[in-house]
Amino acid sequence: PAVPDMDAGPAPSHLFYQSRQRRPLLDRAQGVHIWDTTGKRYLDGSSGAMVSNIGHSDPVVLAAMRAQMDKSTFGYRLHFENAPAEELARLVAKLSPPGLDRVFFVSGGSEAVESCLKLARQYAVATGEAGRFKVISRYPSYHGATLGALALTGYTTMTAPFAPMMHEMPKIPAPTCYLDRDTLSMDERGRRYADMLEAEILRQGPETVLAFIMEPIGGASTGALVAPDSYYPRIREICDAYGVLLIHDEVMTGAGRTGRFLAGEHWDLVPDLIALSKGFAAGYAPLGAMVAPGQMVEAVMEHGGFIHGYTYAGNPLACAAGLAVLSETVRRDLPGHAAKVGAVLKDRLAGLMDRFPIIGDVRGKGLLLAMELVADRNTLAPLPPERMAAARLVDLAYDRGLIIYWRRTRGGYVGDHVMVCPPLILGEDQIDEILDPLEDALT
Ligand code: PMP
Repeated sequence: PAVPDMDAGPAPSHLFYQSRQRRPLLDRAQGVHIWDTTGKRYLDGSSGAMVSNIGHSDPVVLAAMRAQMDKSTFGYRLHFENAPAEELARLVAKLSPPGLDRVFFVSGGSEAVESCLKLARQYAVATGEAGRFKVISRYPSYHGATLGALALTGYTTMTAPFAPMMHEMPKIPAPTCYLDRDTLSMDERGRRYADMLEAEILRQGPETVLAFIMEPIGGASTGALVAPDSYYPRIREICDAYGVLLIHDEVMTGAGRTGRFLAGEHWDLVPDLIALSKGFAAGYAPLGAMVAPGQMVEAVMEHGGFIHGYTYAGNPLACAAGLAVLSETVRRDLPGHAAKVGAVLKDRLAGLMDRFPIIGDVRGKGLLLAMELVADRNTLAPLPPERMAAARLVDLAYDRGLIIYWRRTRGGYVGDHVMVCPPLILGEDQIDEILDPLEDALT
């Protein structure tokens, strides 16, 4: 009875999702593959939404979850602490940059971002800087669906229905590198983009600016855009010069996706706060985290405590799942594997450019990869929006058993891109399972 009769049209559903487009019913998943209830097999080429880093139905993770389920699944944080949370926090601290040694658990990426904002704000108040409340972000960007995180999001498709935002926040362009690409070197462009942060801090008044938030490598909003190397140290320098906290939203880039545990590691960049989710528990449980310096946490605790928390956060079952995922990520060196197989996959995707002029760019790091679709590769002129090129490519790939992920970002930047971000366990011998249907869909 669970098998829908596709020919008869979808049965009426009481589910309320974002889109009217009905998808088949999920049946089971294993490794990099997913089956629907009609028996059709898909290669999960986007890890859901860049989530399933260690693949589906990993036996070690499932065994750890079953063992925890037999003991307890929930204990309210004000009543009990729990061993999986304690151990997972220790492991996250060990994997994070020096000084970032306190971990606050949440149930998803938006909650992780909100937690960073609220801790930063309480820290400013605790240290006599109560005038600082503005958080500068970038466009395009995505930081979450909750109203605080949405106020930082530079993606008008997501924000326009709610405008004016309750807390509109200043934004600067993300380093899309389209600026002066004919006249400036990469290095100069990186610095010039970073300098926009300084200009914005000065425009707002440095004494009012609390933090700057960025995805170290743009996620779905920019299509895996990596800034020039010169961007990163300059951003840290500017934040330090004006006492502005640097928040890394590593919800999509963290937990090994880009070839390092954290994307900031590519540039030895040490932020003040980090938001994690998605690959952190890799789809096995709703879990996220804020990673913070002990000194910041202590200042807030001494000033009346952190007034923040979520009912389900840090529950033993979610933490047992996260602990197993992260332990396996380390034991199997999945970030290293992602770097290696990602380089091969990126080369193969770039190879498609010979045959398909619609591909304007192939970019990313590790297994956070994207292809941008353009009208003209030389000028990178975008395709007409009504063509919905990336969306159509994703649908054609879906028909061919390949799941990829599309975005068409408006808001200072127009582009169609598809994310190709399979689980980090993808074998080199499985790359054809992505390339063949993708090539066919492109054709
Ligand atoms: N930040 C980034 C960079 C994200 O990619 C996302 C999710 N796409 C979020 C925050 C929000 O995470 P969630 O959907 O789990 O709330």
